[in-house]
Amino acid sequence: MATHLVWLRNDLRITDNKALHAACSDSNAKVLAVFIASPAQWAKHDMAPRQAAFIYQNLLQVQRDLAALGIELICHQVGDFAESVTWLADFCRRQRVTSLYYNRQYEVNERLRDDLLENVLGADVARYAFDDALLLPPGSVLTGSGEMFKVYTPFRNAFIRRLATSDVGSLPAPRSRGAAIDVEKPAPFDYPSADVDAAYPAGEAAALRRLTAFCRERVADYAAKRDLPAVDGTSGLSPYLAVGVLSPRQCFNRLRIEYPDVLESVNSGAFCWLNELIWREFYRHLIVAFPLLCKHRPFIGWTDGVPWRSNEQALLAWQTGATGYPIVDAAMRQLNSTGWIHNRLRMICASFLVKDLLIDWRIGERYFMQQLLDGDLAANNGGWQWAASTGTDAAPYFRIFNPTLQGKRFDPRGEFIRRWLPELAGVPGDAVHQPYVWAQKQGERLDYPLPIVEHGRARTETLAAFEAARRLRQH
Ligand SMILES: Cc1cc2nc3c(=O)[nH]c(=O)nc-3n(C[C@H](O)[C@H](O)[C@H](O)COP(=O)(O)OP(=O)(O)OC[C@H]3O[C@@H](n4cnc5c(N)ncnc54)[C@H](O)[C@@H]3O)c2cc1C
Repeated sequence: MATHLVWLRNDLRITDNKALHAACSDSNAKVLAVFIASPAQWAKHDMAPRQAAFIYQNLLQVQRDLAALGIELICHQVGDFAESVTWLADFCRRQRVTSLYYNRQYEVNERLRDDLLENVLGADVARYAFDDALLLPPGSVLTGSGEMFKVYTPFRNAFIRRLATSDVGSLPAPRSRGAAIDVEKPAPFDYPSADVDAAYPAGEAAALRRLTAFCRERVADYAAKRDLPAVDGTSGLSPYLAVGVLSPRQCFNRLRIEYPDVLESVNSGAFCWLNELIWREFYRHLIVAFPLLCKHRPFIGWTDGVPWRSNEQALLAWQTGATGYPIVDAAMRQLNSTGWIHNRLRMICASFLVKDLLIDWRIGERYFMQQLLDGDLAANNGGWQWAASTGTDAAPYFRIFNPTLQGKRFDPRGEFIRRWLPELAGVPGDAVHQPYVWAQKQGERLDYPLPIVEHGRARTETLAAFEAARRLRQH
């Protein structure tokens, strides 16, 4: 009898899982599933302990879901990717696996691991790899001359044209393969234990509930509310998408159920949300076309000549939410506490580190990864390079966020700021954006730092630093 092995990686779900579905389409075969935790590799990738814990929680759920279908999920732990290949090859031999099924991952190390596996397994085991993690696979949306787009909007336009004619339907969970089996708890990961915010319960049922509720009740207001951190205006689905508890097809198809004409309604909240899903696709297509991005190289080479500063004290202030800029500090404290912050806040914090403190964007990129529940190399790198003006489609380097004005604009009443900075609870109205000015006028003492940098001066210095690096390149 044929034995099909499904290797679960970044696709911790049983519905709409292409590899699992394909393996189960042969009703006569024995189907097994495996997950290989690689904490040493994850640490090299700066995976946040809370994301590892989230993976583990979701793994337990997938194991139960598969067991109910009569499929055993074996969980094993190794050190790094090389060890995972050796162990998997040996497992295939021991279990007499005839075919291996998995969904592709697009990062450089993951692709090298899969190439290595191909060599180690040889011809004895047939391999079936699927493009499952994106709506449209990398390399399928190209310019007229067959190249990857370097600017987002034309990519999006081409993407939508292709999406309209592509089959992106979601797949059902596989049918049961017989009696349910007993589940053994997988060995715990050798990783510091970490709390996962209760707002993100594990399992695809929870993710699908959140998706449905969002598309039914809130997506219509998405365009108006998505930038307001005090409001629950976005989906909060990124942790699920990042570890594959939810697929982008499920997101798009649910959106289409609620808004069948979403592709044509370009001014709707639904389209605006789809646009964000396409940003996710853009950044993943980019890391395949430009693998150096995975190695944290800037897309715009001359920006490597910017004289970044080494300032441990300022970095620590940024990390701990003690810069004296309330919107930055509130956001960093939310990030440290929950592992999730709004897109607008990610942009503000990234801009502050790079453009106000002139600290290398890679240090911030790394710190975010170490904190984020939704950490994702492509999206995080793309976001940081955008904010630092070093990437494709980046904000031009002379566009620099003013953190006080950003706070006033996107948290006008300071509700978000007061939620995360209780020491500013007594500062009234929009005075909360410059608490030291208010405190001085009132003769009050606040248990809150003065701004660690003067924005106007920092801006001038950053412009000069970028300009010098650019000129250097021209000579
Ligand atoms: C500096 C910086 C770092 C970031 N790091 C990450 C990261 O590590 N992981 C991550 O998933 N997103 C990252 N983002 C993108 C974005 O901030 C988050 O995806 C979003 O805030 C998640 O919240 P949500 O699920 O409520 O998003 P929604 O607004 O509901 O959007 C739906 C989904 O679209 C995707 N998405 C939304 N915006 C973007 C974007 N700008 N780029 C790529 N995908 C997007 C996400 O998968 C998100 O869940 C980063 C952005 C910046 C500026």
